[in-house]
This record gives sequence, C-alpha cells and structure tokens, in this order.
Amino acid sequence: MAEPLLEVRDLVKHYPLTQGILFRRQIGAVRAVDGVSFGLAPGETLGIVGESGCGKSTVAKLLVHLERPTSGAIRYKGEDITKLSGRALKAVRRNIQMVFQDPYTSLNPRMTVGDIIGEPYEIHPEVAPKGDRRRRVQELLDVVGLNPEYINRYPHQFSGGQRQRIGIARGLALNPEVIVADEPVSALDVSVQAQVINLMERLQKEFNLSYVFIAHDLSIVRHISDRVGVMYLGRLAEIGTDTQIYDHPTHPYTQALLSAVPLPDPSAREHRDRIILAGDVPSPAHPPSGCRFRTRCWKARERCAEEVPPLTVPEAFRTAAGPAAHPSACHFAEERKIVSAGSGAEKGR
Ligand code: ADP
Ligand code: MG
Repeated sequence: MAEPLLEVRDLVKHYPLTQGILFRRQIGAVRAVDGVSFGLAPGETLGIVGESGCGKSTVAKLLVHLERPTSGAIRYKGEDITKLSGRALKAVRRNIQMVFQDPYTSLNPRMTVGDIIGEPYEIHPEVAPKGDRRRRVQELLDVVGLNPEYINRYPHQFSGGQRQRIGIARGLALNPEVIVADEPVSALDVSVQAQVINLMERLQKEFNLSYVFIAHDLSIVRHISDRVGVMYLGRLAEIGTDTQIYDHPTHPYTQALLSAVPLPDPSAREHRDRIILAGDVPSPAHPPSGCRFRTRCWKARERCAEEVPPLTVPEAFRTAAGPAAHPSACHFAEERKIVSAGSGAEKGR
C-alpha cells in the first residue's frame, strides 16, 4: 500500500451505559469500537463490512469528527486529527466528508436542494464566495447526474436514488479528499443501488477521491472496494484485498458471511458448504473474553476464550507478507479447511 492518506490506530469508542433517570449512574460501557486499525491510501476504496451493531457507523462518525474517540489515533497525512481543535480541525474536517445511510431522513425536508447542497459553504465560506454558490451548486447537481434546474425543489420531490445523489453532491461541495460513505445504498432498491455505486466510482476517478465505503453485506462492496475489512463486535476480524477476502478468507466469520452470499451460478451453489452461525451476536456491553467471535465459532477452543487474537498476518503466511499482507484476527487462521460442525456453529447446505 502507498503512504496512507488516513491511518487509524487502535481506535476505541466506548459509550457509557447508565442506569436511573434522576441520578444517572454509570454501570458499564458499550464497546461500540474497541481497537480498530487500518490505513487508507490515496485514491483507494476500503470497504468495511459487518452485521448491524458491530460499530461501522461509529467508525464513520469518528473519522469525520462527529464523535470523539475514547482513545486511539486518526492520522490524516501523518497528523493525529483527534488532537486538533479550532481552525486546524476545521481545515481537516473539510477534507473528510460523510455521505449518510438514509437519504430519506438525512436531508432536511424544509430546505431546498440548493440550500442542502450549499449548506457546507456556510461553515466554509472560503471555498465558495456567496455570489458564486448558486453556480457551484448547479455544477454539483450536474456532476451527480441531476438536472441543475432542480435547485429550488424539495427532497420529497425526488426518488430515493435521486436523494442519495443529492447527499453525494453535498458531500462533494467542499472538494474533500476522503468520503466516508455509511451504507450509502442500503436504503435503496436493488435496481438503484448499482447506479449509485457506478456514480460513486465515476466521481472517484474524476475527483481523485479516497473512499471508506460501509455496508452490511459483502456482496455490495466487492465491486467497488480495493480492500475490505470485516468487522465483528467492535473489532476487525480480517482485512485484505478483494481477492484475499472473497477467494481466500482466513477468518471463520468471513467464511460464514461469504457462505451466505447468494451465488449466481447454480453448480457453484451446489458445491458450496453453507455455514450457519449459531446464536446471536453478543452485546457489545458484555463481549466474550478472548476472541469475540468464539461463542459462534466452530473452530473455537480453550485458547480462544483466554487470549485475544491480534489482527496479524498468520505465521504460516508470513513469507508472503509485505504489500500482500492479509491479517486475520484468528488464532487458527492457518487452518484453511473448514472444520465440520463443532461447538459453536452448524454446517449445512
Ligand atoms: P453499526 O453501524 O455497525 O450498525 P453502530 O456503530 O451504530 O453499529 O453501533 C455500535 C454499537 O454501539 C451498538 O450496540 C449501538 O447500540 C451502540 N451505540 C451507537 N451509538 C451509541 C450512542 N450514542 N450511545 C450508546 N450506544 C451507542
Ligand atoms: Mg450503521
């Protein structure tokens, strides 16, 4: 990987868990994000995937400074932005913008599209002088494939896909270098999802953007991602190139997620073992000791309850490390073979 544009180190976000209304006592913490590290190279797309509640949106909010981390660093061009404030922070925030999940609720229904897309200029007037804003907003509408004449319309006059285009135009308003897109197509019809993803790919080339693209499903990010990180209960289970993750997954959780992805080819479907995970995701307020995935894992042994598996390149694959490094947070990542039904999970067809 080239010199990272963005580098996240041991990022932690705990939300206090309180009890009582009058005298709120802290009785614990929700470990929404609990030690996440990754890099993002210029022009790269990193997909982040995991089930609902695993901490994806919290990572997104930390990256764009909507939340402050409990600990850890977020380095942008080498500088830890979690330590910044005032003018320096404002300058950095301009370069890292967010596109939100739900275009139905993230756009203010009482604002015109022009005001929504141009709103970032109120905070950063230096990017576009007042007299120039209308023209810029119209340009942005054009760039995302909407008619510039729609500038005075309201969000309810648009379809879901069009609304997400408005959200993307707003994300582009300040000419950012990084876009953090939190499930940008999850709320859209399947037929529209590809259009929005294609648009994002085109914009990436046109404006040399880097993306953190969040989804809850591995199949959505495959096409757009250079690398993919799989999250489970506040941590990364595995991270690697698309080939590494989709063709040679080493973490049992990734293997299970992939076994649930629909395959277009019926003969491939027939030869595949479906891994059905037992039980539910444990609460992030009380994660299991050691490996968080162990309570649902068919490979789990004693060691998994005792030692937290670090996100490292498995010993046996270390010679092949370097740029092709493919870290996996599993004590038994080297065992390629999927062991059949054991303690945690069932294997079936
Ligand atoms: P995801 O986007 O992967 O679905 P989130 O990052 O939204 O997950 O949430 C991760 C965990 O943190 C969840 O258990 C969620 O309930 C909890 N959480 C998120 N935001 C807050 C908050 N502001 N206060 C308390 N708990 C939160
Ligand atoms: Mg989310």
